Amino acid sequence: MSIKSKIEWTNASWNPVRGCTKISEGCKNCYAQTFAERFRGVPGHPYEQGFDLRLVPKNIDKPLNWKKPNKIFVCSMSDLFHEEVPIEYIIKVFETMNKASWHTFQILTKRTERLLNIHSKLNWTSNIWIGTTIELEKYSYRSNIIAKIPATVRFLSLEPLLGPINNLPLNKIDWIIVGGESGPKARPMELDWALKIKKICKENQIPFFLKQLGGKKNKNGGNKAILEGQVWHQYPQVI
Ligand code: SF4
Repeated sequence: MSIKSKIEWTNASWNPVRGCTKISEGCKNCYAQTFAERFRGVPGHPYEQGFDLRLVPKNIDKPLNWKKPNKIFVCSMSDLFHEEVPIEYIIKVFETMNKASWHTFQILTKRTERLLNIHSKLNWTSNIWIGTTIELEKYSYRSNIIAKIPATVRFLSLEPLLGPINNLPLNKIDWIIVGGESGPKARPMELDWALKIKKICKENQIPFFLKQLGGKKNKNGGNKAILEGQVWHQYPQVI
């Protein structure tokens, strides 16, 4: 059985690793941490250890049992390239993705330096997408690292977008997701920041996916993902 995901740009999530540690400003109100910590100390619960990082070997083969093709978000509750995940374990995660050729696997990381260091030891079959988060312009360099990874689709997740991004390297980038922060402690995203990214996507013919505007929901649909009168759910063309 797959775990359905509420994240708009994917269908399911797969967590062979659980837990993580914060690395940059985008992590401040990490939804995974908030969720996991709710169950700390609950005997038998998958998050009995809260958000402490741990490997979950019993989950490593799960996608092989999911027969219906899916877009699967890898490590939605962690970061696969976290320093504490051994390379041998990451290779095993990749072996499952290599075998499960009917699925599309979407990996999202903030640990691009480690990704770059070990990517040549991994088998990048055509069903594996790689993306990185860029929440502030100072992390734009992560895009240049993603460009060096031999994945079919390379994408950027500008979520939570915390400031304007004027210089965004787009070499070899196939898809851009933008989202404001949601939840009670949401930091605001200005519409102009999202509009600017939409514009550069159009100019560079990069599919643009607006996930959410962020903030708390209000009766007037205050956080509805509508920009210039429409929903933007474009996806990369994968041949
Ligand atoms: S890298 Fe992702 S999962 Fe890890 S703390 Fe930051 S937001 Fe949470």
